[in-house]
Amino acid sequence: MIIILGIAGSGKTTQGKLLADSLQCQWLSTGQIVRQKLTGPARQLMERGEILSDEVILPLLNRELTGHDNKQLVLDGFPRSISQAEWLLSQIRQKKLALELVINLEAPREVVMERLVQRGRPDDTPKVINQRFDEYERQIRPIIEYLKQAGVTVQLVDASPSIETIAKNILQVVKAAGL
Ligand code: AMP
Repeated sequence: MIIILGIAGSGKTTQGKLLADSLQCQWLSTGQIVRQKLTGPARQLMERGEILSDEVILPLLNRELTGHDNKQLVLDGFPRSISQAEWLLSQIRQKKLALELVINLEAPREVVMERLVQRGRPDDTPKVINQRFDEYERQIRPIIEYLKQAGVTVQLVDASPSIETIAKNILQVVKAAGL
């Protein structure tokens, strides 16, 4: 399994899908699972952009992961908290999952800000974009440090260039990891 983490505007989803295409493997996104499967109050939380509890997200993800060849998988949107990262590591220790590589897509704020403002989604205002940046610093960066300390290989890839160049660089990192 390869996990793609990244700052808002890094093109994480686009790149995850391109990578899965190149490797001819499955692309799985917890956001997409949640949008497809979730109903009721948890769905309303999701629609407000709030992070869902582990009780909701872990069984959903677990069901999707069961029965897959985990080596052949690109996962997007997970882990989003230290407790999810802990769950991931425990699955790895129990040999229920195999995590070969984490790709961390990062770019300077000005670059992704420009990109998101141009995309022009209603929530792509400078204020909300800055909030997402802060969330990344607060939530994702500690997860990356936590995974590194646990011995997981994390590779930083610059998300500033064009989609094609980023995709090429990601593929290089993946091949260099022997995948
Ligand atoms: P995304 O498509 O990754 O932006 O996710 C959309 C929404 O799904 C998020 O705002 C959360 O409400 C929920 N979600 C996705 N992944 C997770 C996760 N790993 N943990 C908790 N909530 C999640």
